Amino acid sequence: METKKDIRSMNFEELAQEINALGLPKFRTSQIYSWLHEKGVRDFSEMTNLPAALRSTLSENYDLHNCTIDTKLCSTIDGTVKYLYELGRGEYVECVVMQYKYGYTICISTQLGCKMGCSFCASAIGGFQRNLLPSEMLSEILTAQRDLGIRISHIVLMGTGEPLDNYDNVMRFLELVTDEKGLNISMRHISLSTCGVVPRIYDLAEKRLGLTLSVSLHAPNDEIRSQTMPVNHKWHIDELLEACRYYAKVTSRRISFEYAMIDGFNDSDDCAKELAQRLSGILCHINLIPVNTVRERHYKKSKDDRLKRFSAILEQKGYTVTVRRTLGSDINASCGQLRASKRKEGDLT
Ligand code: SAH
Repeated sequence: METKKDIRSMNFEELAQEINALGLPKFRTSQIYSWLHEKGVRDFSEMTNLPAALRSTLSENYDLHNCTIDTKLCSTIDGTVKYLYELGRGEYVECVVMQYKYGYTICISTQLGCKMGCSFCASAIGGFQRNLLPSEMLSEILTAQRDLGIRISHIVLMGTGEPLDNYDNVMRFLELVTDEKGLNISMRHISLSTCGVVPRIYDLAEKRLGLTLSVSLHAPNDEIRSQTMPVNHKWHIDELLEACRYYAKVTSRRISFEYAMIDGFNDSDDCAKELAQRLSGILCHINLIPVNTVRERHYKKSKDDRLKRFSAILEQKGYTVTVRRTLGSDINASCGQLRASKRKEGDLT
């Protein structure tokens, strides 16, 4: 089968080369790029300043990789909206739009499924299918913006998948989404979350991107971390924290450590003290997340007084700590959950 080229994943220079190869005048590049990235068209027929013949040439040769809304859930508590998108061929991906005082944040997925296998996480259920393309990640945003009639100002790469395991596509996505000729979202408004793919943390550090790196730590030592996060067998906590220390040093950006609080597992006073000691000297922030109960998993949230005590110990040692607010609790807003239930219905192969 002949595959069409992925036009929305091209940067401006690559698109210019295509336009040149098609024998078209240079100014078409800016027009088409703007339709693709600034206006976010879903079909070549929307490119109204192009001649009809050119629009049909484009649609014969290129694919837009649109997401189509399969399910939309709106929280009546806080306005959080969760989408399950279909990518065609029975593939599903989810994302969540959250409303904050400063604007709209979207949490996007970077892969279909995930290889990392963290035992508390719904995204691991059903394994890994494939990497998402830069165009598909852009389309997660464009589709939500269009549906809600809003402009998204902040992005978190915290949906399904491990962004640093889809490194090249994620880097291209970041280039495109921050382009002033496109959605023009500031790097300062983007967070990338990783479970700890150590060599890629060094690669990312060299890029000095100005985004926020979140690291899903979830444990103060190897013994606890290895029980829930298989990635820890490959890169131990010391190696991971060494990379984080380097990242924070060379970028002067504060790392955000994510710590999912699981009742009776990683939430003791000793864990808090060990964590404080381990992180010493790293420019960072700690984000405590009461673990979300996932139907297929059996972890329980830490009790409120445990959270307070854990956070107090860290604060006493000089760390800044936040406890993540739960948004969209009435719509199962944590990523992976909707997709996992779609699998259950037998819709996914
Ligand atoms: N693979 C990346 C991106 C996923 S981000 C990463 O691991 O960071 C999703 C975040 O939610 C991660 O911090 C992940 O560890 C966390 N998470 C997954 N399942 C969770 C659950 N049941 N409760 C709370 N946090 C969870």
